[in-house]
Amino acid sequence: NDILNILENEHGISHIMIHTWIEPLKIYSVEDNKVYFTLDEDYGQRGVEFLKRKLFDIYLETVLRELFQDDSIQVIFTLESQMRKDEKSPTYSEDYNDAIAKSNLRPDYTFENFIVGESNKHAHATCLAVADSPGQDKFNPLFLYGGSGLGKTHLMQSIAHYILQHNSNMKVLYVPSNKFTNEIIEAISKNKTEEFRNKYRTVDVLLIDDIQYLIGKASTQQEFFDTFNALHDEGKQIILSSDKPPKEIKTLDERFRSRFEWGVPIDIHAPDYETRMAILKNKAEIKGLTDIISEEIFEYIANNITYNVRELEGALNKLSVYSELGDIKITEELAKNVLKDFISKDSKVTITPELIINTVSEHTNISVSDIVSTKRSQDIATARQISMYLCRKYTDKGLKSIGDAFGGKDHSTVHSNIQKVEDKIEKDPEFAEMVDVIIKKLNPQK
Ligand code: ADP
Ligand code: MG
Repeated sequence: NDILNILENEHGISHIMIHTWIEPLKIYSVEDNKVYFTLDEDYGQRGVEFLKRKLFDIYLETVLRELFQDDSIQVIFTLESQMRKDEKSPTYSEDYNDAIAKSNLRPDYTFENFIVGESNKHAHATCLAVADSPGQDKFNPLFLYGGSGLGKTHLMQSIAHYILQHNSNMKVLYVPSNKFTNEIIEAISKNKTEEFRNKYRTVDVLLIDDIQYLIGKASTQQEFFDTFNALHDEGKQIILSSDKPPKEIKTLDERFRSRFEWGVPIDIHAPDYETRMAILKNKAEIKGLTDIISEEIFEYIANNITYNVRELEGALNKLSVYSELGDIKITEELAKNVLKDFISKDSKVTITPELIINTVSEHTNISVSDIVSTKRSQDIATARQISMYLCRKYTDKGLKSIGDAFGGKDHSTVHSNIQKVEDKIEKDPEFAEMVDVIIKKLNPQK
């Protein structure tokens, strides 16, 4: 009460301000010379920003310094949830910071910064289990797969961070698969395979990202295979990511594909609405944007960018640039304008036979021209049948016009091809799963 009186009478802060803003503050803790005041959670980070803008921390500091005759007193406004979060996240040693640089990790790709929702909770839980005890047989290798921008790289690096946070002496190495391939090729051509092996076979945890790009000659694959086996034999943890499940990476030798399935492949899905909102708000907070972006705008973004988390973040970045450049509060009108390109580019594109054929082609590595040809080899025919089936399911085209999109097949051919896919989905779970992965890539709205 003394403090409140002084603020009102000597500093001229209005009664109503004191009543609504200062009175509800709680002293959360006092550490050395720092006094932490927490604000009711309902006010959120915005409330904290407001208090600071009004310079209430300075006023309080002045009063406290006078009352206690101590000029070193500092006042800090925060939220209780924030305090608890800070208590949980320990400060890491220099060794740890050193280790993440050596391991090629991004400092921000941690579990702390990863939002868990329905779409990724299984992947997240598995990654935590691996982080907690690396090298267990049932998750070795850990194979993460899912569409682009869904958080594979972030999650796999989170495991690496976690391991280093708990033991900075662990040797952890992250490498994108194309870099890994290049290093193998260079090692072979320059007779430096010994060096290469020293680097990769002495680690405790090896992470290879986007394994679908690990293509190349038999000798490259052999070297990779040997690395894999050497590490695996010693119970070292191997973590791999890809845009598709192992058995569908046709560029890889069959030996790998089956080996990658030793651990259970884990897929990560596109985020649902709630998760998208949570991710947006979290990123906005990290970037200090909560004050300039309204709830409506968050909803607008979450409603329109539905597939790719990277794009959610891109939208925020774009808004942020705008607000700083123009120093303006973002209105809904402005947001729509700024995000126009983003949003029309995103997944709301209508699904056409062309899109389906392209997607199937990308997934199966069978060229578009083969898919629409009359070739009968098994792989090509299957890709064609799946494409037709998807056209029937996800476009409003009739059998005849689907046939036209495949170089003029007649409607009975289309019909029987679709039939074959339907039968096979019933009987062959692996096949059904493959079709499912392609459907996820197409990302139909319904
Ligand atoms: P991928 O490797 O699957 O293509 P990334 O891991 O690179 O995707 O993720 C793309 C971006 O989205 C990154 O900036 C990442 O931090 C962010 N991201 C993805 N999923 C989440 C999540 N669940 N919570 C927070 N950020 C996420
Ligand atoms: Mg990635």
